[in-house]
Amino acid sequence: MEVYVDPDLCISCGTCINICPEVYDWDEDGKAHSLYEDIPEDLEDCAQEALESCPVDAIKKAG
Ligand code: SF4
Repeated sequence: MEVYVDPDLCISCGTCINICPEVYDWDEDGKAHSLYEDIPEDLEDCAQEALESCPVDAIKKAG
């Protein structure tokens, strides 16, 4: 599973990072980003939950 945060949509609410800090973190512009190019299987569930919880649908599945 690969995810990508669209920085133009992210409103820096922090929800994804609260739900799944193992996968999401802030980038230098204060937007969320994924720490993984290819998310390890054991983190996919939390990555997915965060994706579904983003209020502006900024997290997209890639690949
Ligand atoms: S939940 Fe969405 S809007 Fe909020 S920080 Fe994460 S990517 Fe950005």
